[in-house]
Amino acid sequence: MNLVPISVACPQCGSADVIYSCKPECCFNHVCNNCFTTFELETTRVGEVTENFEIPPESDPSAPTAPCARCGEARVFAMGNAVPPPQYVCAACKALLTLGYTEIAPA
Ligand SMILES: [Zn+2]
Ligand SMILES: [Zn+2]
Repeated sequence: MNLVPISVACPQCGSADVIYSCKPECCFNHVCNNCFTTFELETTRVGEVTENFEIPPESDPSAPTAPCARCGEARVFAMGNAVPPPQYVCAACKALLTLGYTEIAPA
């Protein structure tokens, strides 16, 4: 199984030009570079991953990220080979996750 960094589209305008503007120790606030909507990402645990996977290298600190619903680690990656709806994996505890938006605040 191949894991890839999370990529998200703005929930307001659909732009993929989204940056993570904070640090995992603080919050998961993201900003859309197109319409300046801010939002947070959250995950829901839907299962457990039993397959082995390679943990991707540390990604860009401004790349989208989300906390694991179970362990809280910001080491959530997308399953590269999944068909929509995509599923996500916590590289720290192997929880199988889905990704959602919260705190959406249009500019
Ligand atoms: Zn936007
Ligand atoms: Zn976890």
